[in-house]
Amino acid sequence: MENIQHGTEEKLELYNLSYDELKAFMAEIGEKPYRAKQIYQWLFGKSVTDVDAMFNIPEKVRQILKERTVTELLKPETQLRSADGTTNKMLLKTRDGQFIETVFMKYKYRNSICISSQVGCRMGCTFCASGSQGLVRNLTSGEMCQEIFLTEKAVGAKTKNVVLMGIGEPLDNYENLKKFIENMTEETGRDMSRRAITLSTCGLVPMMARLAEELPQINLAVSLHAPNDRLRKQIMPIAHKYSIEETVAAVRKHFEITRRRSTIEYALIKGFNDSDAHAKELATLLRGMNCLVNLIPLNEAEGDEHRGSSLHTAERFRELLGGMHIPATVRHSLGSDIEAACGQLRLRKSK
Ligand code: SAH
Repeated sequence: MENIQHGTEEKLELYNLSYDELKAFMAEIGEKPYRAKQIYQWLFGKSVTDVDAMFNIPEKVRQILKERTVTELLKPETQLRSADGTTNKMLLKTRDGQFIETVFMKYKYRNSICISSQVGCRMGCTFCASGSQGLVRNLTSGEMCQEIFLTEKAVGAKTKNVVLMGIGEPLDNYENLKKFIENMTEETGRDMSRRAITLSTCGLVPMMARLAEELPQINLAVSLHAPNDRLRKQIMPIAHKYSIEETVAAVRKHFEITRRRSTIEYALIKGFNDSDAHAKELATLLRGMNCLVNLIPLNEAEGDEHRGSSLHTAERFRELLGGMHIPATVRHSLGSDIEAACGQLRLRKSK
């Protein structure tokens, strides 16, 4: 259990334990496995962080938990609600004073939460607010779980769907990501469906292969944002490392292994990647693939020289793709009145 903790305090962070590690901890203090089950249910099933509220745990064990462990890894800092009430954005503070963001979206038939995987990001996409100050650190598995639990509490609603599209590159924090998924989907705890979890990556090709092998039920979204390497390199440094051909091949391979349809994310940037010719080039690149293209007019970040395409251009781009048998949707950005795009709130906080 060496690398479970971080920070200066020597206390064990309970939410960073897997179910097996919690059992080992209980064994260490002379408790039976069913005690681990009860505590795990409180932590991950009921998202209860107050040890004294765990009424079926004997006083003696609660005392040990209070002395040797911490349960609260995050605290709510700010909550913003969009004018139409559909979108809630939370700024959360970590124990070491960092800020991360979540977005809770209420739809008619289902809710969804978008969470962060890192404090900052080292991928350096030019248009993205999350990476403008580099990577501070990875989030732990427990912090990722609590992003969900705290946001649900603040909003007063639960969700079955999770997307890793907040701050950070999830595949750049793979071990913690995997543990997070294991804890959220463990049937003794929250018992979330793996099929309801979607991960977005800027295209870390070797890690995409690992994801398909090790976590085949997880949905994949890939940020392409350009139809060729020349343009992609101008906005996404990762394009210098992995070619667009390799990236798309990894998405095809992901489908072969998982039989799950991937999403291709494409931010439409005015005069840069949004012409009819770009739509044709993209359709050629994606021909025969089982994917859905998600078109998002660029959400202009502070200081970015690029502008978002109009909704009219986005609709035309979608129709062109559709005409070439590439299914596409236009995402009308929810919550732009509360700076719901990746990392904007954290960036503002740090200024
Ligand atoms: N690192 C991951 C996930 C985080 S961002 C990734 O790159 O996919 C989630 C999505 O929002 C990505 O597709 C990202 O490229 C996109 N995005 C970031 N900033 C944006 C902006 N200003 N406008 C539109 N989309 C943006």
